[in-house]
Amino acid sequence: MQHVQCARCVRCGREYEATPDVTTCQCGGILDIVYDYDYIRRTFSKVNLEARRDHTMWRYRELLPVEPETPPTPLRVGWSPLYEEPRLAEQLGLGKLYVKDDGQNPTASLKDRASAMAVAKAREAGAHTIACSSTGNAASSLAGNAAAAGLKTYIFVPSRAPKGKVAQLLTFGATVISVEGSYEDTFELSKQAIDRWGWYNRNAAINPYLSEGKKTVALELMEQLAWQAPDYVAISVGDGCTIAGLWKGLKDLYAIGFIDRLPRLISVQAAGCCPLNRAIETGEPWRPMEENTLADSIAVGVPRNADKALMAIRESHGLTVNVTDEEILAAQQLLGRTCGVFGEPAGVTGTAGVKKLCEQGVLGRNDTVVSVVTGNGLKDVANAIRACGEPITIPSDMGRLLEAFDQRGIRVE
Ligand SMILES: *Cc1c(COP(=O)(O)O)cnc(C)c1O
Ligand SMILES: [Zn+2]
Repeated sequence: MQHVQCARCVRCGREYEATPDVTTCQCGGILDIVYDYDYIRRTFSKVNLEARRDHTMWRYRELLPVEPETPPTPLRVGWSPLYEEPRLAEQLGLGKLYVKDDGQNPTASLKDRASAMAVAKAREAGAHTIACSSTGNAASSLAGNAAAAGLKTYIFVPSRAPKGKVAQLLTFGATVISVEGSYEDTFELSKQAIDRWGWYNRNAAINPYLSEGKKTVALELMEQLAWQAPDYVAISVGDGCTIAGLWKGLKDLYAIGFIDRLPRLISVQAAGCCPLNRAIETGEPWRPMEENTLADSIAVGVPRNADKALMAIRESHGLTVNVTDEEILAAQQLLGRTCGVFGEPAGVTGTAGVKKLCEQGVLGRNDTVVSVVTGNGLKDVANAIRACGEPITIPSDMGRLLEAFDQRGIRVE
């Protein structure tokens, strides 16, 4: 990989060769892939990008840590829609609002970007089996992307994972281990099993390539905005791999001169589980928290990518905001009825954060904000119904329909 220099520890700076199965630093720190931006600038331009027909994450190959001959993964990951939402912006009192619906990926979450990368790197490593532990979406996306590439998967999920995600895993043929315990317990067991059997490891903090896959959300977003940086990009945060990837993608584009300023990040966590935001807010090291939120994908009490995530938020002069489960459910309903976008609770948490910051007067008429919806609502229908209530249930009878409308004050126009 001529465009990749090394994998560098974010804690101690030690450098390693960027082999497909490079993991963490001796010191326990997480590695970051370092690029040769001078080389990339010479080989990659907006003009050659715009001529490209490939509308998947692999269209940004010059900025991705794969060998030139590594084939793109089979599922169509990336190039999710970016919608401008003037009515929602008006309602919130924002200058401009864009929603990027990453629930439109093949297994219905942003995690597909990381899992496709994991599959590409596993192939380079000559591995036939990949394993991971996950709150749900990393698992289902890995299972789907691996199935399409003919690889076998072992997946560890906490037993609280919603049924929609477990159904995806089983359908994609993964061996699913549902761990009775927290995400922390799940992660520990997966680590031991991976050590024991030598599977390719898709765990977010261990594998430095995953945030490189996730960064394609930023590359895409900026191309869709014709390289005009917004003021803010809001996203939900669990382990921290996603926000770190988002920031990496933005910095890459800045480094090669595709954008001339960097947006600020908005890190949104659930009030019941916000160890990273709390660290930023207090200026103290992060401490584990309980996993007390219905937004299961970000119920991460011990974040695995804390260093990279905290660095991303700080470097971008980012904002933090924590939202309650009620605020998450309200945002789910608001996005659904105003934009026609159906997100899972963690998927809409970023938007819940934007709404809250508007209400607090932190964001307003002068701001352009992108909110990334990270996962699709069909993964967790129980919470969607909790957010929006039950339908009108009656027999097939016009009289009963009129009565029901009357009772609920529904006036038909
Ligand atoms: C995983 C996930 C997140 C958070 O990503 P992290 O890398 O864990 O911070 C947010 N939303 C959804 C839907 C997810 O699946
Ligand atoms: Zn180190």
